[in-house]
Amino acid sequence: MIEMEGIQKRYGARVVLDLPALRIQQGERLALIGPNGSGKSTLLRLLAGVIAPDVGTVRTEDLRSGEIGYLPQHPYAFDLSVLKNVELALAGELEKKKQAQEALERVGLLHLCKARANRLSGGEMQRMALARVLARPRKLLLLDEPTASADIAALERIERAIEHYIEQTGCTLVFSSHAPSQAMRLSQRVLALDGGNIGELGKTAEVLQTPQAESTQVFLKSWKL
Ligand code: ADP
Ligand code: MG
Repeated sequence: MIEMEGIQKRYGARVVLDLPALRIQQGERLALIGPNGSGKSTLLRLLAGVIAPDVGTVRTEDLRSGEIGYLPQHPYAFDLSVLKNVELALAGELEKKKQAQEALERVGLLHLCKARANRLSGGEMQRMALARVLARPRKLLLLDEPTASADIAALERIERAIEHYIEQTGCTLVFSSHAPSQAMRLSQRVLALDGGNIGELGKTAEVLQTPQAESTQVFLKSWKL
């Protein structure tokens, strides 16, 4: 189980995330939704250990860093081939190349394995970074808008790759999405953020179909227009 307690993250004088308490069960799939700037990426960065809270604690129990797979919203690439970029996530593995190729195949990028990674399009780069995360088993998967730059075909492929990975590993998934429909397909619970606060937290179907908080209603309405 992951526990966040009394969390505050500030930039300058501004509190950008204020979470009194959040618990995530092992094997659970939690979606983070909310408008731009509501704190989704900040929450994922805190869970990934990329940033620390100013106040409060994040407990990820006995997870070691290699057991957490984190896909940032704006992934980076080394100036190497796509395949080598994925192999870098597999230090110590015996069959690096095979595992990297399988991961690239799952996200539909195997045909570009020899391409220079820093010349990929935004959507391709995101899929390469996802392959890096999915190339080995993890206990916690943190995905920041994994399909933000994807076209429809890539989106379906990526969602299938994520679902397949979860079935194989039983890992916990926390992801942010700009699309409520994606939260519906991939999550069991939704945390709707509102200006760094918990707007609403509950079962996915309930939050998305009968939102109680006004902020969630406004956010979801903007999607139905
Ligand atoms: P979301 O992912 O929901 O769009 P973020 O978590 O990225 O939101 O950002 C939450 C707020 O924190 C935003 O107002 C953003 O401008 C601010 N913020 C994020 N990172 C930084 C930073 N490194 N320095 C200053 N402000 C930041
Ligand atoms: Mg973000």
